[in-house]
Amino acid sequence: RARLQGRAGLRFYTADIDARAHEQLVLEADLRRALERRELRLHYQPQLDLQTGAVVAVEALLRWQCPRRGLVAPMEFIPLLEETGLIGPVGDWVLAEACRQASAWHDAGLPPLVIAVNLSPLQLEDGDLAQRLQRHLEQARLQPERLELEITETTLMRHGAGTLAMLESINRLGVQLALDDFGTGYSSLGYLTRFPLHTVKIDRSFVSQLPRHEYSVEVVRAIAGLAHGLGLTLVAEGVEQPGQVELLRELGCHRLQGFLFARPLPAEALSAWIAARN
Ligand code: C2E
Ligand code: MG
Ligand code: MG
Ligand code: MG
Repeated sequence: RARLQGRAGLRFYTADIDARAHEQLVLEADLRRALERRELRLHYQPQLDLQTGAVVAVEALLRWQCPRRGLVAPMEFIPLLEETGLIGPVGDWVLAEACRQASAWHDAGLPPLVIAVNLSPLQLEDGDLAQRLQRHLEQARLQPERLELEITETTLMRHGAGTLAMLESINRLGVQLALDDFGTGYSSLGYLTRFPLHTVKIDRSFVSQLPRHEYSVEVVRAIAGLAHGLGLTLVAEGVEQPGQVELLRELGCHRLQGFLFARPLPAEALSAWIAARN
């Protein structure tokens, strides 16, 4: 009887895997068409200067407006984009679109903003990335200093021979580099000095524990000390409560990003939000 159950269990299990494998295939086929069908969107989340409260930067965050699935979050399809190599063309579209939008906001009279764009590790392995970046900046007529590329510790950890050289080329263009989700990976302090970084983003998992969780307070204090010592701009992501702002102010954080201020918004809604604040 146990054996029979076991076999039945196995049958359900394989049926389940079949269904999931099938769903993956359908997802992949849909994703392949998403770019040409113009179903990809960027939403933008503001970063505020902690001293002045002004919006000084905006992070571009990818969304997929799928006709069948609705608005799909990046965690649900970026891994597949990376597996299939589609992250190449999609990542390039994200860069071009973010530069175009930043330039359009500038033309519309918004105060100068830095546009932050997330970069997949695979994009850094593309030897043409720096040239492509330069082309996007020129086409959008955007100053390189207005573009900030966010990379994660994992990207640096697994970096191939070309990664450091590529980061240096990007740095020479005048484009800024930010280390995203800091504190979650291996947090090798060496990364902060070995790579040409401008900005460090403290991960939400620490920020969300402020101001009461002592361990997180000390982690953030240490990161802030490092950032100050190395002359890096410090950004806190995932700020949801006023109490977090007060502690981050004490610790000398420069910019704040989080639902307390705004969720990621479509471009139009973001510029309306900025206009309403000023
Ligand atoms: P990330 O770069 O760390 O982006 C911040 C994420 O935290 C965003 O999720 C944002 O909506 C969320 N967030 C911001 N403030 C708060 C808050 O106060 N509370 C909470 N609970 N969440 C907050 P999102 O948009 O779902 O993006 C998830 C991740 O997907 C990003 O994490 C990034 O790693 C990746 N991603 C997004 N867009 C792109 C892209 O264009 N290219 C690549 N390669 N990765 C991207
Ligand atoms: Mg990011
Ligand atoms: Mg982050
Ligand atoms: Mg994060």
